[in-house]
Amino acid sequence: MNYRAAHLPLHWQEWVNKQEHLSKGKCDPRFNGEVHINFEDGSLVSWKYAFYVLNTEKQEVAVFTEHNGYHVYNHRGVQNLRGGGWQKERNMGIDYNVYIGAYLTVKKGATKKVEWEENVCVNEGCSLKGKAVQDNIKFCPKCGTAIKTVAREAQEEIDAHEFCEEHDIIGVVFPTEEKVILPGGKEDEETQVFTPNFKSGSRGGQSFDPKYEQGVFDLSNTYPAAEIAEVKEKCAKAIKLLEEAYGNSVQVKWGAISSAS
Ligand SMILES: [Zn+2]
Repeated sequence: MNYRAAHLPLHWQEWVNKQEHLSKGKCDPRFNGEVHINFEDGSLVSWKYAFYVLNTEKQEVAVFTEHNGYHVYNHRGVQNLRGGGWQKERNMGIDYNVYIGAYLTVKKGATKKVEWEENVCVNEGCSLKGKAVQDNIKFCPKCGTAIKTVAREAQEEIDAHEFCEEHDIIGVVFPTEEKVILPGGKEDEETQVFTPNFKSGSRGGQSFDPKYEQGVFDLSNTYPAAEIAEVKEKCAKAIKLLEEAYGNSVQVKWGAISSAS
């Protein structure tokens, strides 16, 4: 038995026992991803070298890490879960989630300038001209000209998740990873959706199990305009940063976001 699993609930210990690598306390090949969980109250947890497994029947998510142990959470409080989910072994079911409330969108495709330096041969007549060589090479291996360091720049598409992490707003607005499907089934490749990481209108994510067939969310006493205003106020700093990156394509909307993971 893997000592790392000793504190887990029995059904998870049994699951670990069935795993070829984990059961022997060996390094599991699935430890090559990251796991990020956003909870409804704004808490954010991230692991490196980890993967997660869902048990929808018990409403649990278990995170297995290479270096930092195994953890089990009730996934009712989880607003967003992303990273190294292990599809093949997630035979415990699919997690269906509906977020109802205010959310943000931006138009994908915005770019940023990236700059770096390269060591190159600058000899006009050399076939290696402009090609980067390793840092420690002082003279061109082809023509012997002294290597020069030159500045390079390019435009690179902004990755929403990276952007939010870099600007420390990942715990304020969370970029969803799922594809956006328009009514009619066509994929909307242009839109990046973000959910605010607080309970808009005191609802947050609604997780339901399809075995109950019907989920009813009473929205009689909701005020979309007020919730949009609340998000604009609470996420003002994040919205400003997104506007700087994505221009005036940043929008705050109100609606339902359904996802299956
Ligand atoms: Zn050269």
